[in-house]
Amino acid sequence: MTARRVILALIVIVALLLCLSIALLLFLQIRQQPAQPALPAATPTAVTGEFTITFIDVGQGDSALLRDPNGFTVLMDGGVRSAGPIIAEYLRDEGVRQIDVLVASHPDSDHIGGLITVLEMDDIPVRKVLYNGYPGDTRTWEDFARAVRDEGLRLTVTRAGDRHTWGQMRAVVINPQAGLNNPESNSACLAVMVTTGQLRTLFTCDLAFDQERDLINRGVDLDADILKVAHHGSGEGSSTAFLEAVSPEIAVISVGADNTYGHPREETLARLEDAGAGIWRTDLDGHIVIRTDGIRYAINEPLPAAEGQTPVTGSDPAGAAEPTPLPTARPERLYRVVITTVFYDGELTNEPDEYVEILNEGSQTVQLGGWTLRDKQNHVFTFPDYSLPAGEMVRVYTNQVHPDTGGFSYNTTTPVWNNGGDCAELRDPSGALVAEYCY
Ligand SMILES: [Zn+2]
Repeated sequence: MTARRVILALIVIVALLLCLSIALLLFLQIRQQPAQPALPAATPTAVTGEFTITFIDVGQGDSALLRDPNGFTVLMDGGVRSAGPIIAEYLRDEGVRQIDVLVASHPDSDHIGGLITVLEMDDIPVRKVLYNGYPGDTRTWEDFARAVRDEGLRLTVTRAGDRHTWGQMRAVVINPQAGLNNPESNSACLAVMVTTGQLRTLFTCDLAFDQERDLINRGVDLDADILKVAHHGSGEGSSTAFLEAVSPEIAVISVGADNTYGHPREETLARLEDAGAGIWRTDLDGHIVIRTDGIRYAINEPLPAAEGQTPVTGSDPAGAAEPTPLPTARPERLYRVVITTVFYDGELTNEPDEYVEILNEGSQTVQLGGWTLRDKQNHVFTFPDYSLPAGEMVRVYTNQVHPDTGGFSYNTTTPVWNNGGDCAELRDPSGALVAEYCY
């Protein structure tokens, strides 16, 4: 009996020791994990101060995932149907918990196909779906529209001139115009300028020469740091004039290897190179991740941690030898002033007057003296000397004077802003277009 007890006690002690050492090992392992260089994108809730824009390698098609420092998540397009699982896996790997805004640029299957899978995912809900208002007539479109309904959502139309606030990201839709009559699918695709801090990324979906010309003629501010090249590098887009207006530092081509369309075309690559853009391609580089703190950016590598560092170059993209500089300052863009609204319908009881709201989005005070605001009929308002601090807004009313919002007014008794649609243009004293708002 006694010997048996001793053996039992020994077994219990050994088992306890074993449990203790396993617990200690686990504890040490957990302790070690933070020392690994975890990428910011993998920790969705942490405020890292970084935005990420990922061009997901979906083969022949488009898909981009945009996240602000708080994890606000936008998914633009989703490649073909068979790319759905690739996107699903990427979203899960990155710890994405919901898609706040899903953008379907146009009904073509290489843009909305994979979005069907995303909408059907149970673990990652979608909160809102934007599209261009020109539905498709294909099976893929029907399945997409059904998946949107099954998610309990409606398709929300957005068009040129619309502005969106996506967490800390700003987006301006620049194409298509409203009221097109049965437009060709690519030409009516949603093109969007996204601003993350001071970094501007232009998404040109599958636009072609005609719409590029139209954007230039409309005076749209196309200047961007990053360009998602139109139509997978097709030869029918990315004209020299358009690339001059955009002046991108980086051009990203979302394209499948050995595709049957011959994308990207040699002449398009040559135009991008002539424009001085560093070219990145999903068929050669895989997923392309751009990280930015709003001023500097890095591609497929972490941003340097501290501020005021010397510029660091990005790793060489396959197929392009040009290094990618991290811009430390942007002297060419001294002010960032936008028109946030044109309140043209002076019928609400609490707001009898029309006004235009102008916001200084930049980090410095802007002197508005000599700046002009005009509508399509050329009613011109010229600002007197006035300092607009960073983050502040002013309104220019039509009839009355409101000192609390700058005290500016056209002082006219007739309406300026056309209820049927109009464009407000803000120009600096040199005549350069600073901001435009169309409705
Ligand atoms: Zn396409």
